[in-house]
Order: sequence, then structure tokens, then C-alpha cells
Amino acid sequence: MGKVSKEKILEILDGYDKENITIATLGSHTSLHILNGAKEEGFRTAIVCEKGREVPYERFEVADEFIMVDEFKDIVNEDVQQKLRDMNAIVIPHGSFVAYAGLDNVEDKFNVPMFGNRDILRWEAERDLERKLLVNGKIRIPMKYDDPSKIDRAVMVKFPGARGGRGYFVASSPEEFDAKIDAMKERGWIEDEDVAQAHIEEYVSGCNYCIHYFYSALNDEVELMGMDSRYESSIDGFVRMPAKGQLSIDISPSYVVTGNHPVVMRESLLPQAFEIGDKLVKSAAELVKPGLNGPFCIQTLVNDNLEVVVFETSARTDGGTNTFMEGSSYSYLKYGEGMSMGRRVAREIKNALENGGFEKIIT
Ligand code: AMP
Repeated sequence: MGKVSKEKILEILDGYDKENITIATLGSHTSLHILNGAKEEGFRTAIVCEKGREVPYERFEVADEFIMVDEFKDIVNEDVQQKLRDMNAIVIPHGSFVAYAGLDNVEDKFNVPMFGNRDILRWEAERDLERKLLVNGKIRIPMKYDDPSKIDRAVMVKFPGARGGRGYFVASSPEEFDAKIDAMKERGWIEDEDVAQAHIEEYVSGCNYCIHYFYSALNDEVELMGMDSRYESSIDGFVRMPAKGQLSIDISPSYVVTGNHPVVMRESLLPQAFEIGDKLVKSAAELVKPGLNGPFCIQTLVNDNLEVVVFETSARTDGGTNTFMEGSSYSYLKYGEGMSMGRRVAREIKNALENGGFEKIIT
């Protein structure tokens, strides 16, 4: 099957009633502020909702229309796509949308206009491609080990795909690596075939800042929208235990994201925050034309040399944007009003409706 072409999507968009655009997304992840923001900008909204998960969307009244499906992945079914097109829908992707719809389906089967560059989603999902983007952009990243036998200091071990930190572990020697692999397999968190794909990188001792940007293709500007840090289980609970207790119980902490805290950086770090955002946009424009478009996130650890080290990126709305549904310190500086990421996306679509430029922001 061929890829969904941009020409075809623009043709579909051409047939839309521009006075009645609906902003739609899958009911999960960041859909509350995506739809709430769309309403604030005056759009109708629709949610594709898995049966049994409707409560938050009903109680917070963010959706004008509900398209109920048995399973999230049904968003790519032809009848659901038709309903979306019938309501002149522009779909806003987020982490769960990509995970549940499936990258292949988004690239090959989803014939509904989407906000952003659909081709870049694969670049954040596949670690080697993601690394290529960062290396090409000359962005500071942790050193990578190509073989577990070479582990000579604390390393972080990760596995493919967006698992929210499940199965990650820290090791300081090849022996510890082997022992922890066995423990993770026993727990059923990794399979034999994952082991060969283990990604091993330098453990960066520092504080976590996930920086949320919006790249406006219409204005050619990278905007700093907000920051969060992750609240991860079991590590963040584990560190509340006195050291004696930590030593006496034999558990290997995990890094499963359960929530997010809003955070700000010391002001002297902000030049680095802008610099890495600009660099990633430039690198993406070189490698995955037309590049980043709309929301993206750079996950960092800031060490005690005050270096911002990047360990992960998202090329779409990241979960941590939920910390600033009413705006962040940074989006306040830029907009002076409650600008969530969802609202910023809707504002860009509104600007394209008023002044043209859809071909720059829709694929
Ligand atoms: P990720 O799934 O890549 O977002 O990583 C999950 C968590 O693992 C992060 O939020 C960090 O707490 C931790 N982490 C990831 N990479 C590193 C690293 N190189 N050094 C230290 N901690 C890390």
C-alpha cells in the first residue's frame, strides 16, 4: 500500500467547509487540553473515544461530538475516517494516537487531514533515527555503548518503543547488566528478542526538564511553551525511603511515568533551551522535510556543570503539556493569556484559515 500523499490530503481539505472545521483527536493522553484549547479558539470539537473511557470527556465537557469505538485502534477504520471527514475534521496527533493507531496505519491508511508532519512520527519512535536527528543537529546527548561487555561506569539501559520507562534499569558493570536482564525477563517486562536491541547509554546524573516547544511553520519561529519534570514509579517513591531501607530491600527501581510536575529552569539555562529547540528544528528540516511542525518536546537532564543533556524527543504533543492547560510561566511571557499547547495548535489552524498557509501545517 502506498503512503498517504500530502496532495491527496490537501485535496480532501480543499473539499472541506472552512466555516465548519472540527478539531478532533483520540480520547487519551493530551486530548483534554487539545479539545479545550480548540474550543477556546472557537472550533467545534470531536473525540474518538474507546467505550468505557468517556467519563473525563463528558465531565469536563471538552467534546461536541463523540465517535465511540470498541478499541482505540479503530480510529483508522474506514467508517470512522468517513465520519471524521464528514465533520470537516483536522486530527491532532499525540503519543497515544500514534501508539494505538500504529505508525504504518498513520502513514499508509489514515486519509484524514492531520496537523503537523506525519512523516516525522517514525523518527521519534525509532531510537536510531531519533539519534540521527540529534547527532545531525550537534545536540549534546549521552554517550552510547555498542556492547554490554564495555560497560565501565553507570549506564542506563533502555528497550525499543515507547514503553513509558518500563523495563529500564541502571547498571555499572557487564555482570550487573546480565543479572538485571534476567530479572526483567522474569518479571515479563522484556522478551529474549528485546535483549539484542537493548540501548545502553551513559547515566546522566542530573535533574529532569522536559521542554515543550511549538514550531510555527507559518511564522518560522520556535516558541518555548512550557516545561515539566516526570513523576516516575517506582524511582520517585523509592527515593523517599531512608538510605538504610533502600539498601536493605532488594528492589530494582523502574522509570514508569505516572504523572508530571510543572517546572521552571533557572533563567541562565534558558539560552541553552532555545538553542537546542532551534537546532532540532533545523536538523529535522534537513533530514525529514519539511521538518518539525507544531508541538515537540525535548527531554533533558541538567547536570551540575549546568549542561542540558538531551536523552529523548517527541515530535508531537508530549504528555507533559498537561501541566500547563491554563498556560505556563513561559507561555504567559509570550502570550499574556492562558495558552495551552492545544490552544496554540488551534490558533495556528485559525491563522491558516484567516491568512492561508494550510499546505505548510497539514499532512
Ligand atoms: P524515557 O523513556 O527515555 O523518557 O526515560 C524515562 C526516564 O529514565 C527519564 O525520565 C529519566 O528519569 C530516566 N533516564 C533516561 N535516560 C537517562 C540517562 N541517560 N541517564 C539518567 N536517567 C535517564
